[in-house]
Amino acid sequence: FLPHLVASMEEVQETYIMVKPDGLQRGLVGEIISRFEKKGFKLTGLKLFQCPKQLAEEHYKDLKAKPFFPKLIEYITSGPVVCMAWEGVGVVASARKLIGVTNPLQAEPGTIRGDLAVQTGRNVVHGSDSPENGKREIALWFTEDEICQWTPAQAPWLRE
Ligand code: UDP
Ligand code: MG
Repeated sequence: FLPHLVASMEEVQETYIMVKPDGLQRGLVGEIISRFEKKGFKLTGLKLFQCPKQLAEEHYKDLKAKPFFPKLIEYITSGPVVCMAWEGVGVVASARKLIGVTNPLQAEPGTIRGDLAVQTGRNVVHGSDSPENGKREIALWFTEDEICQWTPAQAPWLRE
């Protein structure tokens, strides 16, 4: 383990998690929220939202040159999504572990994709891949007044 990775796992971070249209259509919203909630992360933003094409393209701008980009944009805008902001120590990498790798057939059992999906093009959930992208994506999908700061009653029981 590199020192900077250890350091980033000790810092309070924000991540953007999104239930994609297939997750909503398949009735998996509660199940997916539940995984992050039970782990002990703090929900700071939540909404059901029909994503416009322009926002989908901005969110996935790094993948613009990929052959699957048009189908990805079609998929993400094909129905409402559930947008979430989660906060916690090391939440970015931890959420990616809870989600599992991009291809659900390769994702470990116990992960969201490993348990609930079978194809990369229908992999039910998104999670930011770095603390910087967590901030960027939350700012992209939420207005400032949609993010709530609060102290969970369980806080002293999660961290000493
Ligand atoms: N995707 C796809 N085909 C591919 C790779 C990715 O349809 O070959 C889609 C898939 O929905 C994935 C999203 O594009 O979740 C973003 O790709 P990325 O590589 O960022 O994967 P993620 O970070 O979501 O695991
Ligand atoms: Mg990604």
